[in-house]
Order: sequence, then C-alpha cells, then structure tokens
Amino acid sequence: MQVARQAPRAARAGGPSGVLGPAAAGLVAALREIVGPEAVLARPEDLLVYEADGLTLHGALPSAVVLPSDKTEVARVVRACRAHGVPFVPRGAGTGLSGGAVALDSGVVIECSRLNRILRVDAENRIAVVQPGVVNADLGKAVAPHGLFFAPDPSSQLACTLGGNAAENSGGPHTLKYGTTTNHVLALELVLPDGEIVRLGSAVGVAPGYDLVGAVVGSEGTLGIVTELTVRLSPLPERSETLLGIFGDVVSACRAVSEIIKSGLVPAALEIVDRRTIAAVEASVYAAGLPTDAGAVLLIELDGPALAVARQLERVVALCTAAGAREVSVARDAEERQRFWRARKGAFGAMGRLAPDLYVHDAVVPRSKLPEILERVCEIGDRHRLRLSNVFHAGDGNLHPNISFDRRDPDELRRVLAAGEEILRVCVEAGGVISGEHGIGTEKREYMRLVFSDADLAAMCRLRAAFDPDQVCNPGKIFPTTRFCMESDPKARRYEQVDLA
Ligand SMILES: Cc1cc2nc3c(=O)[nH]c(=O)nc-3n(C[C@H](O)[C@H](O)[C@H](O)COP(=O)(O)OP(=O)(O)OC[C@H]3O[C@@H](n4cnc5c(N)ncnc54)[C@H](O)[C@@H]3O)c2cc1C
Repeated sequence: MQVARQAPRAARAGGPSGVLGPAAAGLVAALREIVGPEAVLARPEDLLVYEADGLTLHGALPSAVVLPSDKTEVARVVRACRAHGVPFVPRGAGTGLSGGAVALDSGVVIECSRLNRILRVDAENRIAVVQPGVVNADLGKAVAPHGLFFAPDPSSQLACTLGGNAAENSGGPHTLKYGTTTNHVLALELVLPDGEIVRLGSAVGVAPGYDLVGAVVGSEGTLGIVTELTVRLSPLPERSETLLGIFGDVVSACRAVSEIIKSGLVPAALEIVDRRTIAAVEASVYAAGLPTDAGAVLLIELDGPALAVARQLERVVALCTAAGAREVSVARDAEERQRFWRARKGAFGAMGRLAPDLYVHDAVVPRSKLPEILERVCEIGDRHRLRLSNVFHAGDGNLHPNISFDRRDPDELRRVLAAGEEILRVCVEAGGVISGEHGIGTEKREYMRLVFSDADLAAMCRLRAAFDPDQVCNPGKIFPTTRFCMESDPKARRYEQVDLA
C-alpha cells in the first residue's frame, strides 16, 4: 500500500523556523500580523495536536496553525501563504477519517473553529446561514424550536463542523431517506486558493450556470476554503419510531435490510451493529441494554406522518421476523430512542476499549450484495488474524468494517493494511465504490484507480486546476500522487511514495 512519505514523528517536531524553510520563515510573523499573535500556533507541542485527524495512521506536522475569525482574515492568510510559497489546508474539528485535514509538505493549517456563528435561521423558507465552524449538533439544537432539523447527522455530530461536513459530503444514519450533505447545501461563500472571495449557488436552491456548489461539496478542501454556507432545513417529522431487530447473525440482519428496501419502504435509517461492537458498546458509557448474545442488531428509524408510520411499523416488524429476527422491539419513549442512538453513534468511541488503534473502513456495495460481501469481509478479517467488527449504514450499502489494532506492532499493521486493500477490492468487484462518506484524503488516493480510468481522473484534475492551478490548497489529497495532478502541472510539489508493507 502506498502512503505519503513522512519522517518519523519524533524527528519532525521542531520550532517554526525548523519546519518552514528559510524563505518561508517570515510567514509566521505575517500570519500574526493578520490574526493577532494568540491566533497563530507555532510551538511544537501545539502543532502536535494537528499532526493527524481521526485517521491516526497518516500524520504530518504543519508548520503553523492559524485561527482566523472572519472571511477577510481567511483571504489574507491565504495570500500570505502564497506569498511565502507555503501550501495551506482548511480544517474543521479534525474528526475526518481519511487524512484530509493533515498538512502535507509543511503546510499551514487554517482552522475554522472561530468562524462558528449561526448567522440566520429563516424558518419560513427553511434555511439557515451559518459559518463553517458551527458544530453539526449545535445547528440541530438551534433550529429545533422552529420545528426544523438539519438532516445530515454523522455519528461525530457532537464535534464535527458544517465546513467539514460539506468538504467531505458527509452522511450519517439519515442518509438513506434524506441524502448526504450535498442535498442540503444551497449556497456557499468560498475563499479561492488565490485569495478571491466568491459566492456560489443561491438560497432559493436553483442557480443558473454551472453547479459549482455541487463541485465544492465533497471536494475535501481542495478547491478553496468555505467561509459561509446556506443550508436547507427539514421539518421535524410528526412521528418517529425506533425499532430494534435482534438477529442471530449479521447476514440475516442484512437480508432483513434487503427485504425492507425491496418492499418499497424508505425508513429514515437502517443501521446494523454486530456482536463484537455490541460487546464493546455495552461495556462502555454508551451502554443501552443491547443484547450481548445477539449476532447483530438492526436499528430501524421510521418517520413521517403519524398514520403512515403506524402502518410502516407493522410491515417492518413482519419483514424482520420473516428474515429471521428472534425479536423486534419498539423504543418505548424518547429517552429509550435516544439511548439506542447514543449506543449506535458512540460505537466507534467504544471500540477504543478493544485496542489502542481503530481503522474505520468505508466502502459502498449494492444493497442486494450486503449478505455475501459481509461474509467475505469477515473471512478476510479472520484470515489476516484481525479483530474486525462491523457497524454500518446498512440501508445505503455503506459498510464500515472496523479493525482494532496496535500500530506499534509492525506485523499487525501490515496485516491491517493488507486486509483493508482486500476489502476495498472485494467491494469494487461487487459493483461498489471505495468510500461512502469519509472521503479519499491521503488514505485512499492510490485506490482511486480501482474505480476511475486515467481519463476520468484527468477530467477531475482539470476541474481542480481551474480553481487551484498551483496546487497550494490542500495538496496531496484525493488523487493518486504518482501521476495526474503532478504530471498535469510540472510546478506541483512532489509527494513521494513509500511502501509501508
Ligand atoms: C467517531 C466518528 C464518527 C464518524 N461518523 C461519521 C458518519 O456517520 N458519517 C460521516 O460522513 N462521517 C463520519 N465521521 C467522519 C467525520 O466526522 C466527517 O468527515 C466530518 O464531516 C468531518 O468534519 P470536521 O469538522 O471534523 O472536518 P475535518 O476533519 O477538520 O476536515 C475534513 C475535510 O474537510 C476539509 N475542510 C474542513 N473545513 C473546511 C472548510 N471550511 N472549507 C473547505 N474545506 C474544509 C478539510 O480540509 C478536510 O479535507 C466520523 C468520525 C468520527 C471520529
């Protein structure tokens, strides 16, 4: 497997002038001039915090971290970085799982956490105008009194930001019915990689010309820095019900998912949690009384008009029972619903009990193939002697095989990477793709060739070059580094490859 070459972690720590080349040493002073000295971090112990995101396998120290407080400061910071020949990387909360917010090539991290205001809630038109550093769950809390909610709900929603959600086109349990973030962003304000500020899209949801909002959402911070978002809000449903189907094994839970979808029902969420994950959750602060002797539980959320939900509930119970559920229970009240969801959303955190490191995989397969692919994924984990567990958005066919491991053990690390590659290949062979919601970042850039031809990738690179011809904005992400963006622009920096295996 190919990853960016990085010096050993200890060797990379050092003062700003040690990390930045001499030509760029004045940059920190210039940044302090723009945002004030307290909003620039350059001490090694401060930079260490920004060495990685949620993917701890890939790390690189930034040369500085800057925390602007408005779009004008963002634009000036961008211009200063350019003037000093230093690349820059937008960052939200750093919960990304594909290395997207990591500053390669001693870049500067532009952290958006101080741009954290909800500027306007327009309940009548069901929109909100927000800054990128607003935390996903905080927007939900702010709009609930208006009878509204923001549908994209990543399990990290208590921490992750709307800027990060847009950049990754994040999903969550609600994706099945409501779509990913791209379906909920109407307009954007963007600081381009040359420091220009542009507005894309429109608050009414349609805009003439190219759909550049669509291009920016999911571009993983490579086309500019989002400084404002206009997002769509959805009406809170009249009734919601959460059901827990208990199954003997994960494959029969997958069959129930296929049957529910085949029946024409569109639940708000269909999430599977397997036995190992249940055990970790039940031993953690997220414990919700899930049955530890079950092979898997299927968490089902139905929402909509009260009458329709009542009918759907009956059908779902019947379908789960026919697929082999030993029991299907309905959450008794809002408190129990929340408990179930806290268990599901806390699952990745609970896995921390099993090993020091967790590699969260993310791939999509056609839903009809879930049972067969799940079996193969488990076989791969067993063959490589790994602790592999599954908790995933089953309704979307979006798998998250999670591998608990210790990266200090080189043999185990090698097996983790080998299994990860096999899993991706199996998913792609089944007609799937290499990421459902966590993005490509540095993690999967070399696997883009599994799903795209050279011509496909070159077309994407040309779009990128139109925004960022010099590749200074979050370089080294998404695209295979051995060709394409480097080849199409000889000025681009080189990201050397090293074989981890
Ligand atoms: C426990 C856990 C559970 C998770 N569950 C889910 C889930 O259910 N669904 C899901 O989709 N993801 C999930 N994730 C992944 C992650 O939380 C999402 O990708 C999230 O959207 C990242 O937001 P962030 O603010 O942390 O962004 P960061 O990690 O800081 O950055 C992510 C990317 O966005 C770019 N970026 C950040 N801000 C901006 C900006 N203002 N302008 C332009 N680019 C920007 C960065 O450059 C980077 O490429 C989970 C992560 C964890 C740790």
